[in-house]
Amino acid sequence: MANRQSSGARNSQHRRTNKPKNPRHGSNNAGRGNNKKKSKLIDPSLFVNKDVKPAQQIDYSAKHKFTDFGFDSRIERNILARGYETPTQIQDEAIPAVLERRDVLGLANTGTGKTAAFILPVINYLLKNEGKNDVLIITPTRELAAQIEDDFRAFTKNIKLFSALCVGGTNINPQIKALAKEPHVVIGTPGRLKDLLEQGKLDLAFTDTLILDEADRMLDMGFIKDVNFLCNAVPVERQTLCFSATITPDIQKLINGLLKNPVTCSVRTNTNNDHIHQSVIEAGDKHEKVEQLHDLLIKPEVSKAIVFMRTK
Ligand code: AMP
Repeated sequence: MANRQSSGARNSQHRRTNKPKNPRHGSNNAGRGNNKKKSKLIDPSLFVNKDVKPAQQIDYSAKHKFTDFGFDSRIERNILARGYETPTQIQDEAIPAVLERRDVLGLANTGTGKTAAFILPVINYLLKNEGKNDVLIITPTRELAAQIEDDFRAFTKNIKLFSALCVGGTNINPQIKALAKEPHVVIGTPGRLKDLLEQGKLDLAFTDTLILDEADRMLDMGFIKDVNFLCNAVPVERQTLCFSATITPDIQKLINGLLKNPVTCSVRTNTNNDHIHQSVIEAGDKHEKVEQLHDLLIKPEVSKAIVFMRTK
């Protein structure tokens, strides 16, 4: 701690003597007066990085076309309607294995197309199987669960397969009603799913496909007990798919207990953040903060922005 502070102080001095001219690439200079006095309050160099290299694109040339997988023609139509032309790497590698009903460990993060990598072959299986069996998808967050349901709906357009979204933080009663209709696919977060299972509203007796999405985040968020509880409630005769961006010892333990002779599909992604430039603008009271934010947002180069306020 002491070391970090002293090196930060050195950097801070250096930064002040080399004050950048371009407001976008500098700290403290959104242009409202008394910054000199305020800059003593925090030392941006302790937590702010400069961009050092441009972002790298990793090219991938797909081995398959979507038409090579032998999907039901209704699924193929929906893939086209969704605007997907070529499989992404995780889709290219995982879809054949999932179609063979193998257990799969997908090492891929959000943005790689991992949702379609599992949802398309699973829909194909449900169709072949005439919807006799069910699928359980466990995700760490409501948002991810909702996103997966959106994809499921888009890929099952004009197909009679149904889903239920069971997430925390919302009224449980509509979820109980949705489960009573015996959906083919249940997508939810661990706590709420466990709750529904314990209340006898979620029936996993016919579930033969279990999917854990963003497993590493689920463990990070402390859901391991609930995840284990749910996994143990799914019949042992099943296909299990586990997606995770990272392999930590905890994930490895989970995988060892869940997956049988899995096919591993790993996607190379550019996880290097060196191309992201960070900067700090200091503001006095909250009115000045709003004015500075306004000044920033009206700049033509700010084409996209996310504003976080406290925890929102
Ligand atoms: P995901 O990693 O599943 O969250 O997907 C990231 C984004 O990529 C989503 O907006 C998907 O709709 C999109 N996407 C996934 N697969 C493809 C594909 N093969 N072609 C074009 N877009 C895709």
